[in-house]
Amino acid sequence: MKKSTRYFPSNPRRTFLRSAAALTAMTLLPGCDQTKSDPQSPVVFTPGKPLPWINWAGNQTCTPTARLAPASEDQLVSMLKNAKGIVRAVGASHSFSGVVPSNDTLISTDLLSGVISHDAASVQADIWAGTRMHALGPMLAAIDQALPNQPDMDYPAMGGAIACCAHATGKDFGSMSSYVVGLTLATPSGELIECSRSQHPEIFQAARTSIGALGVISRLKLQNHRAFRLVETNRVEKTDDVLDAFAERCAQHRHFEFLALPHTSLCASVTTDIASDTDQPSGEEDNNAAHTLRKVYNALSWLPGIGDAAYEKVLTMALGGAGKEIRVGPSYEVFPHVRVVRFREMEYTVPAEHGPACLREILHTIRSKKIPVCFPLEFRLVKADDIWLSMFEGRDGVAISVHQFGDLDYKPYFAQIEPIFWKYQGRPHWGKIHTLGAQQLAALYPHHWQDFQEVRRQLDPEGRMLNDHLKNLFGVTS
Ligand SMILES: Cc1cc2nc3c(=O)[nH]c(=O)nc-3n(C[C@H](O)[C@H](O)[C@H](O)COP(=O)(O)OP(=O)(O)OC[C@H]3O[C@@H](n4cnc5c(N)ncnc54)[C@H](O)[C@@H]3O)c2cc1C
Repeated sequence: MKKSTRYFPSNPRRTFLRSAAALTAMTLLPGCDQTKSDPQSPVVFTPGKPLPWINWAGNQTCTPTARLAPASEDQLVSMLKNAKGIVRAVGASHSFSGVVPSNDTLISTDLLSGVISHDAASVQADIWAGTRMHALGPMLAAIDQALPNQPDMDYPAMGGAIACCAHATGKDFGSMSSYVVGLTLATPSGELIECSRSQHPEIFQAARTSIGALGVISRLKLQNHRAFRLVETNRVEKTDDVLDAFAERCAQHRHFEFLALPHTSLCASVTTDIASDTDQPSGEEDNNAAHTLRKVYNALSWLPGIGDAAYEKVLTMALGGAGKEIRVGPSYEVFPHVRVVRFREMEYTVPAEHGPACLREILHTIRSKKIPVCFPLEFRLVKADDIWLSMFEGRDGVAISVHQFGDLDYKPYFAQIEPIFWKYQGRPHWGKIHTLGAQQLAALYPHHWQDFQEVRRQLDPEGRMLNDHLKNLFGVTS
């Protein structure tokens, strides 16, 4: 089964939508392209000079003097101990925030990849932390195991996903960090520490979401599920209807989420359940749906006074009563989607009960302030856990994400939305764009913020793992 592209379900009337886009785009009206400014890739490479590093989104870059790639734990320990300057680990470079850059030393975990061992009875597997999620799926399937849940793309390395508390959706499912029942951490001083709930429990709770501040994780022990198949159904619905019934919708399905279309009353809902033998795929895939949406929006949104109405009308005609798109297959093929549209993202997790009010306020703000954005907003439910710096620590959370196309300036849009998240006690996703520093973050993590700082200082007293972004997060001034 081929992965599909998120953000706009395909449907029988897509041809109409494409035609609408083509016609309207011919008018070359400005629409949301008015704010176009950021280049997609600001990196300049000079032959003979160190190779610059750049993240997937193209908004973070650095030029490290040393780029290292250990192929064993011994090499990792020795590289960490002897590394010069600020040392940062890098997985798949899929974070939007400044969690990776260092102009001194970058340690890639790419060569620490694969399944090390597994236990069929407990359904657990030991894996190397550099294993990319897309490679892990088939490897686990071969031993009748699968990750319990997965985000909607599978490019990250498992170590990077754990470090940032990457998550998916589902009322009974925590973040990916919550599947980790043991790990091995190489510290900046060159120690290799194995930890779990019973072995170095404080280090374990800190390292399960560490933003790479404690050293480099070499191995992870995962609590998996037996391999399973899924059916995913995409529909177009009214956002208000979905928000009114959000708790019931989540209760009815193994996974439920939706993508709200700004400047309209519409959303794309996504339900995912264990597949039955009779489930059949239907609908076609559209890798450029977000671009199509953008063309329609650009062409219509500028119309004074009636922009939103015209835009919603076209979308309703194109999508109203649309058929369902259904995807069926092994879990590791159904959870992720292909990403061909470059974007930048900010995401905050608010207490689950505040989720609907928070999203409604954001959508209202976009409309009333006429913010030129058409990229859908994602709304996902994640179960509470007890991991010290998890966005879901101590509370079920709704993660709300706002996106902007990679060639547009996201800052004016995000700056208007971020204070709304603060109003609802939102905690920012560590791997996504936000502007918070230590003072605000400490207040958002009342239980274990100081515990984490204590473990961090023990393992890295000289702050060798702290780049400027992390210094700001943790309030370290030197
Ligand atoms: C297209 C796209 C879709 C996304 N979808 C989702 C989503 O659905 N859900 C979600 O939660 N997030 C999502 N994200 C964000 C992304 O999944 C997270 O930021 C993730 O952590 C990135 O993993 P990575 O391997 O790319 O890590 P990197 O970005 O390379 O590194 C992230 C952090 O992890 C640290 N790190 C990496 N490896 C290790 C290690 N072995 N030991 C210790 N620290 C380490 C790094 O130092 C850094 O601090 C998405 C991002 C993109 C670009």
